[in-house]
Amino acid sequence: MSVKYPLVDEITNPEFSHHSWLTNCLWIFSLATWMSSMVVKVAINGYGTIGKRVADAIDAQDDMEIIGVTKTRPSFGCDLAVRKGYPLYCTYDSEEKIAAFGPAGYDCKGGLSDLLSVADIVVDCSPGKVGAQNKEIYQNAGVKWIFQGGEKHAMTGMSYTSSGNHAENMNVEGTRVVSCNTTGLSRTLVPLLHACGSLSVECTMIRRAADPGDSSKGPINAIKPVLKVPSHHGPDVMTIRPEIEINSMAVAVPTTIMHVHAIVATLPDGHGMSTESVLELWAQQPRVLIMNGAETGITTTAEVMEFSRDIGRKWGDLHEIFVWEDGVKLDGNTLYYFQAIHQESDVIPENVDAVRALLGIETDWKASVKKTDEAIAAYNGL
Ligand code: NAD
Repeated sequence: MSVKYPLVDEITNPEFSHHSWLTNCLWIFSLATWMSSMVVKVAINGYGTIGKRVADAIDAQDDMEIIGVTKTRPSFGCDLAVRKGYPLYCTYDSEEKIAAFGPAGYDCKGGLSDLLSVADIVVDCSPGKVGAQNKEIYQNAGVKWIFQGGEKHAMTGMSYTSSGNHAENMNVEGTRVVSCNTTGLSRTLVPLLHACGSLSVECTMIRRAADPGDSSKGPINAIKPVLKVPSHHGPDVMTIRPEIEINSMAVAVPTTIMHVHAIVATLPDGHGMSTESVLELWAQQPRVLIMNGAETGITTTAEVMEFSRDIGRKWGDLHEIFVWEDGVKLDGNTLYYFQAIHQESDVIPENVDAVRALLGIETDWKASVKKTDEAIAAYNGL
């Protein structure tokens, strides 16, 4: 496309006709309108732990923008949306619920339908299992949709991790960014699958009892086994890469800051890998952080989180999966390792990449990951 812009000396030249100047202004206006129409308009339905983080990660990108976030009622989370300048909507279309925001001092722009009417895509960050009831609303509004890991694969029909199946998600109507645990498993297992051709995995998820902002979950003084065996976490990886044979068990423990995975993977005969080459493989992957516990003093999840705060990550988040170098050992065909997952944040950049996949913006997952992560770092001044 060739566009003639008015040069400064043309505009200041008295010979420059008013008509040409106007024509060029119109050209510039059309170009700006066309460029802004290329920016994906993203709605966030459910501005809680995940929603507020996804909103900022989207806001950091130059190819997408937040056009509104929803809250169910006027509570303290609305203040953050106001401070960020995100238009605030009510999760529901009820006139009464929308009207409740005004007396509390919030300018509520309308209900969910109003928000969807100006959106290209909605990221549903409602509590687990609640999102399913919203799917029909999104479909009727004609917007693309992304659910979170609290929803079932059977409901969405597609699941997503950046490293696992970005290509399969290109241009689809909707998907589910899998849970924090499944995302973490995918980050380290998918590269191993590519390197070895096949994988069989048994793992135990040692799960945090509640997020730091939760006051209603537990246990606070017990270790609680998840008695549904195998747990859903391992098999959920197979919604991304069915070639990985995987089972898992889970226990909840009284901590709020991270999950830890204890993983035993069986590599195929003739895999040709060593402990060092496995570490080298992971070191080349985006969003995988490998550190030596003995050398750094980072031997527990407490120090991992302190490290994240020290390096200035917003909310103390860690988007990367943390692997202890000295906790990795390949013995014959059996690979043992531990990894730590910051449950509130590893899925955040994946939601950004998923938007690019669904809107058909970027086919190369590594290019999307690079763009996402660099933009988030710059946004947070890191
Ligand atoms: P949250 O409870 O912190 O936030 C949910 C938000 O949705 C709240 O603001 C709530 O008011 C709002 N909401 C309630 N009903 C709604 C409805 N009908 N429609 C839209 N919004 C509604 O929950 P969260 O931890 O942010 O979890 C959101 C999703 O992300 C869940 O599917 C969860 O499984 C998944 N997830 C959570 C974590 C985590 O550690 N917190 C990690 C990965 C994935």
